Amino acid sequence: MPKPTQLAQMISKSPTIAMNDKAKQLAAEGHSVIGLAGGEPDFDTPPHIVEAAINAMRAGETRYAAPSKGISPLLEAIAAKMERDNKVRVDPTSDIIVTPGGKLALFLALKAMLDPGDEVLIPAPYWVSYPSITQMVGGVPVTIETSSDDNYRLRLEHLREHITPRSKALIINSPCNPTGHMLSSEEIESVATLALEEDLYIISDEIYEKLNFDGRPAVSLASIPDIADRVIIINGMSKAYAMTGWRLGWLAGPTELIGVAGKFNSQTATSAATFTQLAAVAALNGPQDCVEMMRQSYQERRDFIVDAFNSIPNMSHPEIEGAFYAFPKVDETSKTSEEVANTILDEAVVVGVPGSAFGITKDAHIRFSFAEDMNKLSEAVDRIRAMAHMLA
Ligand code: PMP
Ligand code: GLU
Repeated sequence: MPKPTQLAQMISKSPTIAMNDKAKQLAAEGHSVIGLAGGEPDFDTPPHIVEAAINAMRAGETRYAAPSKGISPLLEAIAAKMERDNKVRVDPTSDIIVTPGGKLALFLALKAMLDPGDEVLIPAPYWVSYPSITQMVGGVPVTIETSSDDNYRLRLEHLREHITPRSKALIINSPCNPTGHMLSSEEIESVATLALEEDLYIISDEIYEKLNFDGRPAVSLASIPDIADRVIIINGMSKAYAMTGWRLGWLAGPTELIGVAGKFNSQTATSAATFTQLAAVAALNGPQDCVEMMRQSYQERRDFIVDAFNSIPNMSHPEIEGAFYAFPKVDETSKTSEEVANTILDEAVVVGVPGSAFGITKDAHIRFSFAEDMNKLSEAVDRIRAMAHMLA
């Protein structure tokens, strides 16, 4: 019998999705489970965006999109948004590819830049899919572990220690999933220095850019003039507009690399759905108060969740600057993060994702999404508080 690829041994199902599926299954079996594993807004997509999709379908916009890299009104809306929000100028006719989801945009970006064996520097905690996608396209992920004790700061010397002749790219995610960390100007300078010194591409995953707290704007790495020509932005509709199920994202950056990614997109996805793209046009060009309303709501829940975890004996949490994840640490424990996650699942019936899934080996962290109903969050914290002594 033929066998599936050897990669099968290296790649597991996305742990965030696996834990989210598990929570849904436990609920279906009648357990009083609180699922905080999946990262997605609890809001419905704003009605004017839904209307735009329905109108587009009724108007017969149900065929393959042309051009396959994205319909012109959407490419133009993305370019206008990038100029307005990010101070980044791109040519909509050559520098953007629209994809069915930011995750595929990341896949295409890595596929377009890596030769087999090329290394990708990935600061940890990282979003779970960065190393796996790197491996799926033949690259080698190189983890650079940072720590909550140091506020997850990226230090130039630490980055330099991981450089080899095969280093090709660095992935930055600010605000970060799972920590919410946003790069400081000093860290941006370190990233720029390293990329220029070592001739690296930078993948800047900006999918949480709109979910920033306390008035501190997220800076796009493509707005830094010295490195603009080597930055590939990954973004999409999922988080800012509560459109996770619509599957719409994009990558934008240097014309040559985007051209390669466009060829690969046409050979795999073909295109994102036409009516979804028209809905995205309505979202990007329409009123933005819905985005601000959701952001404020996440900020309120952030305030609650940070205080709550800090008030549980033996757990600690630094400030969260953006995104919608809590990533508390169990301070004094002999348990691994998997054991912590399993104990919380068994004893509190609250589902999170262990810190190891995000590349953290030194401390016992667990990730909970706080894009959930306040009553559920509060109940989850109460349940964890009641069993926290079992985490030692
Ligand atoms: N980047 C990060 C950091 C994410 O958390 C996600 C969420 N899955 C994505 C990219 C991709 O999102 P999507 O495929 O829904 O656009
Ligand atoms: N980005 C979300 C998360 O981290 C959705 C699931 C996924 O794609 O990983 O939970």
